[in-house]
Amino acid sequence: MSATRHPSAARFPVVGGELSVGGVPLSRLAARVGRTPFYAYDRALLTQRVQALREALPKAISLHFAMKANPMPAVVGHMAGLVDGIDVASGAELLVALDAGADPREISFAGPGKSEAELAQAVAAGILVNIESMREVTLLASIGERLGLRPRVAVRVNPDFELKSSGMKMGGGPKQFGIDAELVPQALAAIGERDLGFEGFHIFSGSQNLRAEAICEAQTKALALAVRLAGHAPSPTTLLNLGGGFGIPYFPGEQALDLVPIGAHLHGIVAEAGRELPRAELVIELGRYLVGEAGVYVARVLDRKVSRGEVFLVTDGGLHHHLAASGNFGQVIRKNYPVEIGTRAGAAERESASVVGPLCTPLDLLGDRMDLAVAAPGDLVVVFQSGAYGFTASPQQFLSHPPPLQVLV
Ligand SMILES: *Cc1c(COP(=O)(O)O)cnc(C)c1O
Repeated sequence: MSATRHPSAARFPVVGGELSVGGVPLSRLAARVGRTPFYAYDRALLTQRVQALREALPKAISLHFAMKANPMPAVVGHMAGLVDGIDVASGAELLVALDAGADPREISFAGPGKSEAELAQAVAAGILVNIESMREVTLLASIGERLGLRPRVAVRVNPDFELKSSGMKMGGGPKQFGIDAELVPQALAAIGERDLGFEGFHIFSGSQNLRAEAICEAQTKALALAVRLAGHAPSPTTLLNLGGGFGIPYFPGEQALDLVPIGAHLHGIVAEAGRELPRAELVIELGRYLVGEAGVYVARVLDRKVSRGEVFLVTDGGLHHHLAASGNFGQVIRKNYPVEIGTRAGAAERESASVVGPLCTPLDLLGDRMDLAVAAPGDLVVVFQSGAYGFTASPQQFLSHPPPLQVLV
């Protein structure tokens, strides 16, 4: 192929001039799915990603899947058999995790604004609740009393540091997440006064980070903070969730995260935690990093228009299915996700073209003036790096088109 391909494209080998997912050529997969657009997730890639992490990180580190990145039940079922625990962000996600066969002892629940019903679900299921406010302390105690069960709790801390150069900061400064570090001793005292089973701390500081040094620094600070706070806890700390934040490369110039320094650094963290918090299990929780690169979004070209010299490939998919690829999910400056014409892999004839959707808004742009194989109606466009925050992070009702399908191949 003449153009430089995004490294993510290489995960989907070319078979007979077409990209393939899970060994199935794209047009055959589209026929099997029955209609376009669809998301396809590659089972083998999910498995390989977990294996690669296991090899890079110390054995003492538990690996959790933050399922909000991709809550498709089949994906959660597959992941539940690979990782050590599932992190849920709502009562509905909890039901999916339980259906998937995840062990309730290894499920945890984080998020601001947990409803009373959701907290009761969590207590009844016997999962761990990451407490994010004093309200949750009081509510959990009364729910525990009512159900005759002892709620399992950890304190989600809003740390007094930030995850530097992170795509999304979720800790440090004033935040709606967790309890401010300086107020945690008070919360721990309140937990100690009630019939709540304290287990430890959850310190998640940010998301989508590609700099190993920044992640290592945040882990060091998280451990130090947990050690300080553990002195105020009503019982020994048996769990420390160090957060995650591992990012994946989307845009030109971005480099894949280097796991080697993170693994090396975590060996030091494990050793220090062994001295300071000897009973604590150490957890890393990841969403995007586990599933993001294993998924593609596939849409069909409906029309090829030339407007004042520029080519537009109008597809049946768009921002209503894949908000992030359109640049409207947290991007400051719009950049193109990696995109290819999956049914013309290796074609020599190329042109500059924009990939747009069927919505009546200029925001419905999946690729802006990209170098692509020359395509015609019927061809299939592939958006890579689409396994996380795609299907469920898009305004599917906008313009009332049908939703995309999802398959695990
Ligand atoms: C969203 C979220 C995650 C997952 O973040 P990724 O960037 O997808 O890895 C993990 N933990 C918590 C608490 C979250 O809210």
